[in-house]
Amino acid sequence: MPAFFDRPVIDSDPLIAEALASELHRQQTRIELIASENIVSRAVLDALGHPMTNKTLEGYPGNRFHGGGEFVDVVEQAVIDRARELFGCEYVNAQPHSGTQANQAVFFATVKPGDKILSLDLAAGGHLSHGANPNQSGRWFDAHHYGVDRETGLIDYDNVARKAREIRPALLITGGSAYPRRIDFRRMREIADSVDALYLVDMAHFAGLVAAGVHPSPLPHANVVTCTTTKTMRGPRGGLILSRDSRWAKQLQSAIFPGVQGSLHSQIIAAKAVCLGEALSDEFKDYGKRVVDNARMLGRTLAEHGIKLVSGGTDTHMLLLDFAARGLTGQQVQDRLARINLTSNKNPVPFDSAKPSQWVGLRLGVAAATTRGLRQDDFKLLGEIIARTVEHCEDDATVLLQEDREQVSQLCARFPIYA
Ligand SMILES: *Cc1c(COP(=O)(O)O)cnc(C)c1O
Repeated sequence: MPAFFDRPVIDSDPLIAEALASELHRQQTRIELIASENIVSRAVLDALGHPMTNKTLEGYPGNRFHGGGEFVDVVEQAVIDRARELFGCEYVNAQPHSGTQANQAVFFATVKPGDKILSLDLAAGGHLSHGANPNQSGRWFDAHHYGVDRETGLIDYDNVARKAREIRPALLITGGSAYPRRIDFRRMREIADSVDALYLVDMAHFAGLVAAGVHPSPLPHANVVTCTTTKTMRGPRGGLILSRDSRWAKQLQSAIFPGVQGSLHSQIIAAKAVCLGEALSDEFKDYGKRVVDNARMLGRTLAEHGIKLVSGGTDTHMLLLDFAARGLTGQQVQDRLARINLTSNKNPVPFDSAKPSQWVGLRLGVAAATTRGLRQDDFKLLGEIIARTVEHCEDDATVLLQEDREQVSQLCARFPIYA
């Protein structure tokens, strides 16, 4: 057999092999607190690195354009069956290459260029793919946005209802990338119905919590639901489209293929199936419960140390910290946390500056570290470390940095990932 089929990347491509090895080391030696990240199982990695990637297929199980698809049919059908069981839905599309493309397909299926859409403002925690200006959705649709209440940091549903009456959107969207609280799906659906709009819930961030049964499900209320299989779902990079009724099934099928995508990513579909299989287990329910407990503990510890949390806390895996009163930017805190091997991201808080360099927020998520095994005591410790970092963000407290870095490295050693 030619060496081509057998030679590991370390022998064939040292530049990339070294970057891969360094990335693994980075993940092993730092605590990941970016809310959109997680740590997948060995089984998910097995699927992602499998020769199933060689298989080109278009269409859906039982209706393919190419031959030889019988085993990919098995895995795609498994995604559909498992997602149905997990989320109690009738319609499942397993193929979206990402959360953004899942949303793009829903737009393609349900609205026309120039139609009005109404979604959570990006600065209030929304997502680019919900009609933000630089995104295709913002260029092709007449996008309007609702925000959150300045005092509470919560969605102001009366304001959403007013805006909906004024604008009369064809599509109403909830879900976002920096909204740490539960959304009142029932109320949103009533608002959508009152103006004859369709209701899309993008549960990209909290899908895993819904799957684990620790967060209300949007499926009984939404016309269509999209999500990623990353983030709290703890699977490969990719998306899903779900719906409780089959009314949009035909349009959604053809919106993904041939509407906005070509062939499916076979090996990723296999990894999605593994992820959904894991999500059906009791272990995953326990993980979901620990995620919520850990986020609450981290929030409580930070608040006890005088750090302001947007909306005062969290119902999910995510916290949004506001440093406006301290005169710090999110970037400063992000950089300082990086020095003690905690990875996070700067984020706007509601009504923040338009300039990322001036944002005063920082977003934290506990899902990845929870997967790693950290429990409430560990998050109490992390909260104290983060509070101290914020306190000393601008001085040169080298001794503290060294102490905190040591504590983080002990956590990494106690909770190892990937042998
Ligand atoms: C992360 C996210 C997405 C996009 O997912 P990608 O896979 O990165 O395209 C879509 N919507 C929301 C609300 C998100 O948080």
